[in-house]
Amino acid sequence: MARCSVCGAPAAAYIRYQRRYLCRDHYLGFVEEKVRRAMEKYRMVGKGYRVLVALSGGKDSAALLGALASLREKLGYEIVAIHIDLGIYEYSVRSREAAERLAEKLGVPLIVVPLKEVLGATIPELAKLSGRPPCSVCGMVKRYVTNAAAVELEADALALGHNADDLAVYNLKSFLNQDLEAISKLGPKTESVPGVAVGRIRPLYTVYEKESFLYAYLKGLPFVHEDCPFVENQQMERQLKEVVNRLEEERPGTKVQLVTKLALRIRDYPRPRGEIRRCKACGLIASGDLCALDRLTLRIFGEPRGPRIREWIGERARELGLIPRRAAPAPAS
Ligand code: SF4
Ligand code: ZN
Repeated sequence: MARCSVCGAPAAAYIRYQRRYLCRDHYLGFVEEKVRRAMEKYRMVGKGYRVLVALSGGKDSAALLGALASLREKLGYEIVAIHIDLGIYEYSVRSREAAERLAEKLGVPLIVVPLKEVLGATIPELAKLSGRPPCSVCGMVKRYVTNAAAVELEADALALGHNADDLAVYNLKSFLNQDLEAISKLGPKTESVPGVAVGRIRPLYTVYEKESFLYAYLKGLPFVHEDCPFVENQQMERQLKEVVNRLEEERPGTKVQLVTKLALRIRDYPRPRGEIRRCKACGLIASGDLCALDRLTLRIFGEPRGPRIREWIGERARELGLIPRRAAPAPAS
């Protein structure tokens, strides 16, 4: 039987690119140390920060919340979680249950945003009404709601569960489309724009997808094991994932090298052009008079619904005693 290379206990994992076995506890510590190092190296958080964690109910966001909860005392930040019930049939029912159980297990306050109730339509309904693919509408809605919640909660950072595999694939896809502005947003963190947008951080930046799964599994964190039914539509991502996996198989460490090299050059990529504006309806970040969500909801419902989302989240946050916020953060060091 393989033994942990640190303590000699039965091994639970093999780290191929380091050629060593680890037991459960040392494996959990290994992943948490990776997350801690990435957060320190890329100055993702500072003492007293409020970090809003986007929880989808899947393995990556479970691993993200698990690792952030384990490190919160050491690094001195506070965490709050948000889950959006997208209304994607049974998948959303199970994702919401998993997110609720996870937040409870880790003692993290959770805001659940039921899209049907708050926005007036689910993702499949919005896709039908707008004539856009579900993933395109869903991506926009998730970006809007998480940012709106982060602004309402006066969060200092919004944490996303993107792992090294995801980022390698997004990077290659954007490169193939020559969408260099999209690559400029794939670094370990983006900056906040006061009052309109909260900066995003990716604490799992150097964590592989398999590592994130095994971490969530060995730590006993609740998560959904199935994919969203619309993931089938993302054909290009699936093909690029196979390519990246083959490269990793032949050259262990490839994915992490790709994302860490990207982090070094991220400032060389062109940023989206045009001035940053404030949406005339909801007051959040926009590229024109209205933000993308308010443009879409104005077109399909005859009214912009961003203000209603902000108000709903604000009320929920007040009920949970999360706002007004008391402590001010120290800068990331
Ligand atoms: Fe949304 Fe598409 Fe992801 Fe499903 S697969 S959660 S529709 S982005
Ligand atoms: Zn708006």
